[in-house]
Amino acid sequence: MSSYREFLQGTREQIDEIDVERGHKLHGETDPPVFLDVREREEWDEGHIPAAVHVPRGWLESRIEQTVPDRTKAIVAYCASGNRSTFAARTLEELGYENVVSLAGGINDWKRHGYPLEVPTGALGPEQRTRYSRHLLIPEVGEEGQVKLLQSRVLLIGAGGLGSPAALYLAAAGVGTLGIIDADVVDETNLQRQILHSTASLGEPKVESAARTIRELNPDVEVRGYKEQLTSENIERILADGWDVIVDGADNFPTRYLVNDAAVWHDLPLVHGSIFRFEGQATVFKPHEGPCYRCLFPQPPPPELAPSCAEGGVLGVLPGVIGSLQASEAIKLALGIGEPLIGRLLLFDALTTTFTEVALRRDPDCPVCGENPTITEYIDYVEFCSPVRA
Ligand SMILES: [Zn+2]
Repeated sequence: MSSYREFLQGTREQIDEIDVERGHKLHGETDPPVFLDVREREEWDEGHIPAAVHVPRGWLESRIEQTVPDRTKAIVAYCASGNRSTFAARTLEELGYENVVSLAGGINDWKRHGYPLEVPTGALGPEQRTRYSRHLLIPEVGEEGQVKLLQSRVLLIGAGGLGSPAALYLAAAGVGTLGIIDADVVDETNLQRQILHSTASLGEPKVESAARTIRELNPDVEVRGYKEQLTSENIERILADGWDVIVDGADNFPTRYLVNDAAVWHDLPLVHGSIFRFEGQATVFKPHEGPCYRCLFPQPPPPELAPSCAEGGVLGVLPGVIGSLQASEAIKLALGIGEPLIGRLLLFDALTTTFTEVALRRDPDCPVCGENPTITEYIDYVEFCSPVRA
């Protein structure tokens, strides 16, 4: 049996080492080797060799193939002082990597020579790494994507049926700033579907009830509440706070048109959703990439065709389905991944459990996003509806 010293020495004799001067020279080449950092996460976060990849020693066997699939690729393994990377280099050779060296003296020696370091900015703290671990395991999100989510800002129009699930999932996902516009207070008829609110929040402004629920769910999220009805008077002030994505959970067309026009003029993606009885729909209006709401409905309906003012019924879980889809689209847009519902209207029927997709086209004559726009200022439509028939 050998001591650690003897074991280290024995292993060192079986691998190739380079000093940091040589390492620095290789680092500057046009086709440099892969610099593989085998230290622990906390050490990596304090600074690493620029463009290095990180696989902690304990994960080397299971993760290296994913990180460096090409076994002929030259690898410079390094750690703090060159001991852990000695064992790492030996392991890599056993795994069939043909061109591996260990950096003698490690990053400590690299730093002593004044060679460049890269310190990750906005890296996740240990608690966040645990909280978002299921995101970190998805390559399309990962740490970079999670940091992006924490820096992203989503504006929700309404904290009602659609806004509730959307806000909860966006908050749970770690979207760093959620704006919520809602002038209403919580009443008993809301609780059948508006899961941001509870019996204890009856009579409370929805914005405050929502902020408390979100704070309890995820303290990483900052909520900006706007306890007001969205109008042409306040929309620019609210948008001036700076948003990446708008999620529209409004249940009336004056707001829908206001938000649509604002999204086009500010070039903001707008995630649309609506619900009625057992049927819901969702789409993404991305200015100039797909249609906007006015490409489909240039003007509000004439009064005689407007829906009745009597409150429409809705299956309580339906906004859960549609609002969750809206949250999913908003997260994809914030991360820039996947294929959002641009130019596609997704229809869901809860009674038959069917999803249908309808293609939507941009209208070149659209009064807002068309080639010769005729609407260039906000319009406050008065909400009207046909008299309830006897
Ligand atoms: Zn349009």
